[in-house]
Amino acid sequence: MRRVGFIGLGNMGGPMCGHLVAAGYDVTAFDVNPDAVSRLVDAGARAARSVADCAAGVEALITMLPAPPQVEAVWLGDGGAVAALEPGSVAIDMSTSSTAVGARVVAAASERGVDVLDAPVAGQSIGAKAGTLAIYVGGDEAVFERVRPLLEVMGDPARIFHLGPNGAGYTVKLLLNLTWFIQAVATGEVLTMGVRAGVPLDKLHGALVGSPANSNFLERDVRMVLDDGDYDEAFPMRLVTKDLGLAVDLAREVGVPVELTALVEQIHRRARTLYGDDAGEISAVRLYEDLSGVTLRLGET
Ligand code: NAD
Repeated sequence: MRRVGFIGLGNMGGPMCGHLVAAGYDVTAFDVNPDAVSRLVDAGARAARSVADCAAGVEALITMLPAPPQVEAVWLGDGGAVAALEPGSVAIDMSTSSTAVGARVVAAASERGVDVLDAPVAGQSIGAKAGTLAIYVGGDEAVFERVRPLLEVMGDPARIFHLGPNGAGYTVKLLLNLTWFIQAVATGEVLTMGVRAGVPLDKLHGALVGSPANSNFLERDVRMVLDDGDYDEAFPMRLVTKDLGLAVDLAREVGVPVELTALVEQIHRRARTLYGDDAGEISAVRLYEDLSGVTLRLGET
């Protein structure tokens, strides 16, 4: 497999596509933003004129798009990718998207003899640049094995997981993000409560990290806020709330009542409304700081 198309060259897709070029794949790239395409052309990719042009003649087509509406438009819309792909090729959506849109892509692609994988990622733009993303794959296992070398160029081979049939990748990605966003709210509540109750932040944080209640978020991720007042704009609140909305949709589809998820979604939506679409992904902690009048900074306790 040498000929690869890549659509969606933003914070994540740009560096991911760059790794494929650097690994020697014959890459055709497309984005609605011409500057994003130019960067990949400078790196050695061929510029496509349209989605259909990017899909024509490739053995695998990868998308890394913001959300389900863009995923549906690119794969199934007028001039969409599914209609332009050759039978026997593989369609790989690496966006964080919905199982519902994914199922419509699978239905249309199977009529054309095109295989489909959902393969969303974790690891932030740092992981995309380093080529060390975790990748969560749903779809036929033999198809997964065919494209594994491509995925290993963009991800950490030890953290590329085949999880089940189509949709399993999207599902696991939404669930791991949901868990992280729940922890952001829980951590914001607990730390502001403890500081307001008179416990110095360094002692409170150290005791929690050393306790059975420790988490990666508490030990590592929230340190960006505690050390530097950095709420991590590499992943913006517009994408946080998109992912949480998709998690609530998924719960509705599978018929599981999720009071906590619904509440946590609303708290992050409030943070997005206050601090803006491009505010950093840890803005829920900032919300608790502002509500309680506490600034959570280790250097200041
Ligand atoms: P982004 O907004 O930086 O990039 C998306 C790109 O898609 C942009 O360049 C945009 O111009 C392009 N695009 C939009 N509509 C298009 C269309 N119709 N045709 C062609 N190109 C189109 O987003 P991102 O941060 O790269 O995220 C992409 C996906 O990865 C999202 O689903 C996001 O949730 C997920 N994700 C992001 C991160 C992160 O840290 N940023 C981490 C894991 C997963």
